[in-house]
Amino acid sequence: MTNTIASFLEARQQVEDYASSLTPTDPQMVSLLDAAGLALAEDLGADRDFPPFPRSTRDGFAVRSSETKNLPAQLRVVAEIRAGAATAETDIRVNAGEAVEIMTGAPVPAGADAVVMVEHTGRNGDTATVQRSVSAGENIVAAGSEARAGDIMVARGRRVNHAIVAVAAAIGRPEVAVHRRPRVAILATGDELVDINLRPGPNEIRNSNSYSLAAQVHAAGGEPLILPVSRDQADELALLLRKGMEADLLLVTGGVSMGKYDLVEQVLASFEAKFFFTGALIQPGKPVVFGELHNNGDSTPFFGLPGNPVSTMVTFQLFVRPVLDALAGAAPQPLPFAQAVLKKDVTSKTGLTRFLPAKLSGAVDNPEVELIRWQGSGDLMAASQANCYIVVPPEREQFRAGESITILMLT
Ligand code: AMP
Ligand code: MG
Repeated sequence: MTNTIASFLEARQQVEDYASSLTPTDPQMVSLLDAAGLALAEDLGADRDFPPFPRSTRDGFAVRSSETKNLPAQLRVVAEIRAGAATAETDIRVNAGEAVEIMTGAPVPAGADAVVMVEHTGRNGDTATVQRSVSAGENIVAAGSEARAGDIMVARGRRVNHAIVAVAAAIGRPEVAVHRRPRVAILATGDELVDINLRPGPNEIRNSNSYSLAAQVHAAGGEPLILPVSRDQADELALLLRKGMEADLLLVTGGVSMGKYDLVEQVLASFEAKFFFTGALIQPGKPVVFGELHNNGDSTPFFGLPGNPVSTMVTFQLFVRPVLDALAGAAPQPLPFAQAVLKKDVTSKTGLTRFLPAKLSGAVDNPEVELIRWQGSGDLMAASQANCYIVVPPEREQFRAGESITILMLT
């Protein structure tokens, strides 16, 4: 096995290229609410025009806009149309000198080409006084202007979020086709680890990575399968890795650094695994490993994620996510970078792209960010307080308070 240390951008590119070659899991029909978080395996098409009728967007009066040029304009109110009104009630025409009282979400009657907001009118019996003029089309969404019957409203590959749930509901789809959750085996390694149900000895710690990863996998539309913790022992590791290879994706944590008992790469190499990279110039997460295992013509991608809890989380988002997205049938997504103004100086050494736990705050016109004090990539508490990472590029040593800096939002 040769060592291949990639820059952050190279490693990310490699993962994206590999992801684009993957075949997603099979489609299945699921009820709409179970689809949330999964990728659509079908296009969602409009079953009718949207909106299906010219929709008033205001409470007010449907009028002929040309009759609101000279103000105030007195119009005779000839009818009232509520949202959901029966067709018989809406089958009227607004003639010269007339107005129809109308509610938000109601169909605009023939003859009218605009709606005057009720706030800009007065009312006296059958007479409405218009105090502000409207132009043609104002406060009306034309029938079919959002989508025509048969148009694709949401394309396959989109991950179902609340807005897409709304579209599916609006087109009458209590079930939709999504890709099955890819099975993701999670294997934590380390002699010091005990299960979270047990009391750790004085020099032991609880296995938190299997759980943080399971949460990340589930949120990304995968089905986590937590394997028993492996000791730092080649035979046991080999046995559990073989088990993990049966999944659609294998995630191993720990045992990928330079320590004497870091055996993961060695055991994977003995399986004739293909390694795409065996490290990336990032902090945290430098020892991250990405490759593919082959088994009777089947191939399973794997990641060896460094065991430090923050490294595990960061490398999942940076590198595992595109592969899991592709297996889950989701169209590729860029990393969610943004910009914010530093509240305090940031100093670091050059050479690595750093993703440092940070807190984004500030007002709508002034997003501000600052580092969270941490004890390094094992600091779970710092990670739990972060809502983003500050991204320090490899060539910069110093950023000053007040400068704009790139942040990576958590996904
Ligand atoms: P390793 O990558 O195996 O060298 O581990 C790096 C650090 O992460 C060590 O301090 C480990 O104790 C810790 N660590 C490794 N695996 C886990 C885990 N599953 N849960 C929590 N901490 C871990
Ligand atoms: Mg270890």
